[in-house]
Amino acid sequence: MRMVDIIEKKANGLKLNAAEISFAIDCFTRDEIPDYQMAALLMAIRLMDMDTEETADLTRAMIRSGDEVDLSDIPGIKADKHSTGGVGDTTTLVIAPLVAACGGAVAKMSGRGLSFTGGTLDKLESFPGLCVEQSVENFKHIVRTIGVAVVGQSSNLVPADKKIYALRDVTGTVDSIPLISASIMSKKIAAGTDAIVLDVKTGSGAFMRTYEDAKRLGEKMVSLGTHFGRRTVAVLTDMNQPLGLAVGNALEVREAIQLLSGQIPSDDPLYEVSMLLGVQMLRLSELANTDEQAHAMLKSAIQSGSGLNKLRAMIEAEGGEASFVSLEHIDKLCKTKHLIPVYPDQSGFISAICAEEIGHAAQMLGAGRATKEDIIDPAVGLVMHVRLGDEVDHEKPLCTLYANDATDLDAVTFRIKSALTISSQPSEPTPIIYDIIRGPTT
Ligand code: URA
Ligand code: CA
Repeated sequence: MRMVDIIEKKANGLKLNAAEISFAIDCFTRDEIPDYQMAALLMAIRLMDMDTEETADLTRAMIRSGDEVDLSDIPGIKADKHSTGGVGDTTTLVIAPLVAACGGAVAKMSGRGLSFTGGTLDKLESFPGLCVEQSVENFKHIVRTIGVAVVGQSSNLVPADKKIYALRDVTGTVDSIPLISASIMSKKIAAGTDAIVLDVKTGSGAFMRTYEDAKRLGEKMVSLGTHFGRRTVAVLTDMNQPLGLAVGNALEVREAIQLLSGQIPSDDPLYEVSMLLGVQMLRLSELANTDEQAHAMLKSAIQSGSGLNKLRAMIEAEGGEASFVSLEHIDKLCKTKHLIPVYPDQSGFISAICAEEIGHAAQMLGAGRATKEDIIDPAVGLVMHVRLGDEVDHEKPLCTLYANDATDLDAVTFRIKSALTISSQPSEPTPIIYDIIRGPTT
């Protein structure tokens, strides 16, 4: 077999068979195919698409490039959740402990934040001492004893994805539904859980800008999960503004602790999306017979503090300083040299928020990486004071910046103001939850 023939076949819009897909993935992972040939194949896929069977073959080849985690010796149904990435998206830190408090087994291997989106691992590392790199044995031990572990991916989990993603990032081939689906689902399937809940974001702060693309991605990932014998549900949720008010690592941890302490109202978007995801996880884990029952269980885990206790136990098990997991003490991790309110230039109603730009503004303050080598400052970021539809005037700050380095503050302020559209008329409220896509076994 020759790589050039496979590239030409896909470039001509023809369907690749399993042997051709395996050949390309296996040889590329072993460094037997140069980057330029793989980049050409990725671009051909990006332009010509792949059908369901090809995407499943690609996913299988990627899974086989590395190790699969065996969780079968942990009792019960093991559940995972994954978000396609957003801004102020702190749901994992809320629902992973809540589901564990309701009797679930949450085993999550997480990735780093990509571009302007925050990563759960970076948020967890706000806790002094915490180590996200745990051995598979330790990961399983924490799930078995506490009911929840969120750690970094083990080093040999889908090595093909690491190599391919690095190439996609610099060749304009990230934006492809089969490539995104195979990338995400190969890692989820190799990580070994029985149930997978996917949060597919759509809007100004998501990879999928339109509802139609988000739905296609959700359907593709649910069909892949089902194909590989996993119970899979995808929810489509809004990312036309940051989900939570906090954008930044310790700041988002603080918001999760506020939610788990019962301090965030039930009509708040972060609360609503967290509950929706938690309900799906409890249903797939067969711990509740109806959505209403699952919802009530999660609510009581907030009211009793058992969810917050699970978060504390997990932080401690991963080596972190658990005393920070409380409303009283978490502020210490959010201390910065400067606290700067940003005021609007005009009064009116917030009619649009570019969530991606808000994410970039937080990144500029040091909350995210522009390159892989950048070091994150856990305390910095911003807290929004307005949501879509809110009325604003010169007296009311749009947000507060938490900064340690004062050099870029004018640029950050400008970026935030440009990210918000203020209109004279209030606009229609947008939905928070668009759709739920269920696999046949759910
Ligand atoms: N997240 C991933 O893990 N892979 C993609 O391709 C896109 C988002
Ligand atoms: Ca974030």
